[in-house]
Amino acid sequence: MTILSRDLLCVNARTIAFVALVSALLNGGRFSGSIIEITSSRYAAEAFLSPKCVPNAFVQSRSSRLIGSSKYLKMKASDPRPNPKQKNEDELSKIDQVQSFMRDMTINLMINQLIDKIFDTVEDVSLMFRRHFAQYSTDANALSEWNDPDQSHKPRVLVIGSGWASHAFIKCIDTDLYRVLVISPTNYFVFTPMLASSSVGTTEVRSIVESIRESNPTVKFLEGKGLDMDAESKRLKVAMGEGDIIPNDDDDEEKEVIEVPYDIAIFAPGVGPISSSRHIPGLSPQNVYFLKSINDSRRLRSAVIGLLENASQPNLSDEERKRLLTFVITGGGPTGVELTGELTDFLNDVTGKKNSGSDRQNIAPFASLGKYIGIKLIQRGADLLPMFDEGLRESAKIALEKAGVEVMISTRVDNIQSSEMIVVTNEDGEKENIRCGIIVWAAGTKPVQLSEKLLSNLDKDSLDKGLITMPSSMSERGRIPVDRWQRVLGAAPGSLLAIGDASGTVGEDTSYLPQTAQVAAQQGAYVARLLNRRYSLRRGDSSLLDEDLPEDTSNELFLPPPKSFEAEEDDFIKFKLRGHVIAKPFQFLNLGQLAYTGGGEALSQVELGNKKLFSQAGSVGFLLWRSVYVVKQVSTKSRILVIFDWCKTKIFGRDVTRI
Ligand SMILES: Cc1cc2nc3c(=O)[nH]c(=O)nc-3n(C[C@H](O)[C@H](O)[C@H](O)COP(=O)(O)OP(=O)(O)OC[C@H]3O[C@@H](n4cnc5c(N)ncnc54)[C@H](O)[C@@H]3O)c2cc1C
Repeated sequence: MTILSRDLLCVNARTIAFVALVSALLNGGRFSGSIIEITSSRYAAEAFLSPKCVPNAFVQSRSSRLIGSSKYLKMKASDPRPNPKQKNEDELSKIDQVQSFMRDMTINLMINQLIDKIFDTVEDVSLMFRRHFAQYSTDANALSEWNDPDQSHKPRVLVIGSGWASHAFIKCIDTDLYRVLVISPTNYFVFTPMLASSSVGTTEVRSIVESIRESNPTVKFLEGKGLDMDAESKRLKVAMGEGDIIPNDDDDEEKEVIEVPYDIAIFAPGVGPISSSRHIPGLSPQNVYFLKSINDSRRLRSAVIGLLENASQPNLSDEERKRLLTFVITGGGPTGVELTGELTDFLNDVTGKKNSGSDRQNIAPFASLGKYIGIKLIQRGADLLPMFDEGLRESAKIALEKAGVEVMISTRVDNIQSSEMIVVTNEDGEKENIRCGIIVWAAGTKPVQLSEKLLSNLDKDSLDKGLITMPSSMSERGRIPVDRWQRVLGAAPGSLLAIGDASGTVGEDTSYLPQTAQVAAQQGAYVARLLNRRYSLRRGDSSLLDEDLPEDTSNELFLPPPKSFEAEEDDFIKFKLRGHVIAKPFQFLNLGQLAYTGGGEALSQVELGNKKLFSQAGSVGFLLWRSVYVVKQVSTKSRILVIFDWCKTKIFGRDVTRI
């Protein structure tokens, strides 16, 4: 009640807003304060607005976007004095108007997005159909078509990386319009959400990859790692051959280096596995394992089985066996939690813990080691999986602890050595020395070397202006600043587009997007369609459809929105129908998130845009998790192989061969 006596009230949490709401109800439907300001709490705002609850409140929003993005709502209660009946009715009708406007806008936005998705799918299907009848070049040299002057009518689009963003781009790009060359140190795409399960053999690594050559046979592929990029002269320096994303300059030195020119580059090398937020002594590939690539997954699987074998050797003390079989995972985000869940399942299976008390326990391959095993999950923040709802976060912790994991929240890593680490609790600063067999680092990411090089090569003025508008958490992580059409600031206008984890949108009215596969894949497909629809992205080279940009854009921080050359020229009905003569900026459609927590339990939070549809934890969540992961595999072959792997593990048990 006391808060109601105040004239100005700032509310940050949804709960407090509801307290105000209930108090208002108890006061006979009248709120006696003057202003309520709510940050990030659209639901509280909506409830507060309901005419049934607070008939004399009305809403002021700074712009229509605010409601949709639920970033900032300013609510103002009516005059605390009793209002005449007429005034109440006027205000009621204002509330109705605002409410219906809010609803209409949200619904319109979602319907528009869904209609766009349907049209996009139709376009993609027709493209894939045409691809079946395409003529493939038979030249063994991947660069022959690229350097062929007879093909100059087709701009050269260079794709850097073969991850989520690039894969989606490759699937959707129209190779009748462009010469497309993909350069990546890995000649395959990886379904990263299943790396954790492949690191313990629940699924095999070959089941969750797809060769880039199969993803789209009409694009060219060159195995190599981008070393440096000149965004002004539009050239990429490439060290030829297979590679890893963890920087290894010695390896690159021995390789042949070539320069590849391009007209438009799609920059999508993702991020590396080591957090750049803070320097931790000893955090290096020599002391820790990562889970970012297929190689990491293989290394981890072999190391875990290796430790079980080592711990079975004679002449070891119990103390040493315990150390060898202590597994530490740092990072309580989706990667850390899923790996902990999968690892716990694996260790429980191979030591027979799952069947403890029954005869089957003794036939487990490492039945004698169960009592030495310890799994620790270290999380710096106060909660696991901060992106999930509070209830689900708590369920994750309970599920892991039930499976035998020691969850150490509010604990940070201070120092790492090959077989031990020092952690410090946030609350009292108490230090603990953990001796262990393995440390897996899943706490944060770092830009790859190529991104760092590119950032140092971009036009500094534009870059600085752009970086100012970028949240510091993003610029610190070295994300390449892009505008809302994914065009890189400070590069030759419109010739460089960055997508996926490596990019970060800057400018007013932009929202922070997480580094997830969902965002990366949607951005990849979006950029491919931007090119397929022949939007002019830049000025200059006449072969590149860009005559309609203003004469001088070199000093502009942001280029004008891309405009469709084809629609201008031909008044093409497709563009008119879809209202895409001026390109729409990238809009992320959030579908929610999933995380496996071990023991046949998972969290599923299904959303559509800003709307939460439903959330589930436990075995129902697990069923949903498995169904979505099967559907989301990028090929039918992968779908079948993944289901087969699950059945194989269930029927024949775990494979503990150390190959
Ligand atoms: C274990 C794990 C689990 C995850 N689970 C989920 C999940 O459940 N849901 C979700 O939405 N997201 C998840 N993510 C995050 C998701 O994988 C990333 O957000 C996504 O991969 C980003 O896509 P990208 O294309 O930007 O980068 P990546 O997919 O990382 O691809 C980068 C590509 O660039 C290549 N490359 C790197 N350096 C160079 C270079 N110098 N030159 C050329 N090529 C280069 C790499 O080889 C790779 O092919 C997970 C990530 C991990 C690691």
